[in-house]
Amino acid sequence: MAEFCLDFWNTLNGFDDPQESYVMSWGIELCEGCGEWKRVVIRKRKHYLVRCFINRLCKRKK
Ligand SMILES: [Zn+2]
Repeated sequence: MAEFCLDFWNTLNGFDDPQESYVMSWGIELCEGCGEWKRVVIRKRKHYLVRCFINRLCKRKK
């Protein structure tokens, strides 16, 4: 997987995902999208969407 910073990743995919939904690199890496040294996306957090879904259901009950 190429390494992209969150901004570029979201732009590339048309996402508007918060940083919390991804595991980010600890150190700075060269972003292959914008060519800047930033923290990059390692992978999507597995349970983030599930948690979002559950939160939404809980909110709906109120
Ligand atoms: Zn970038």
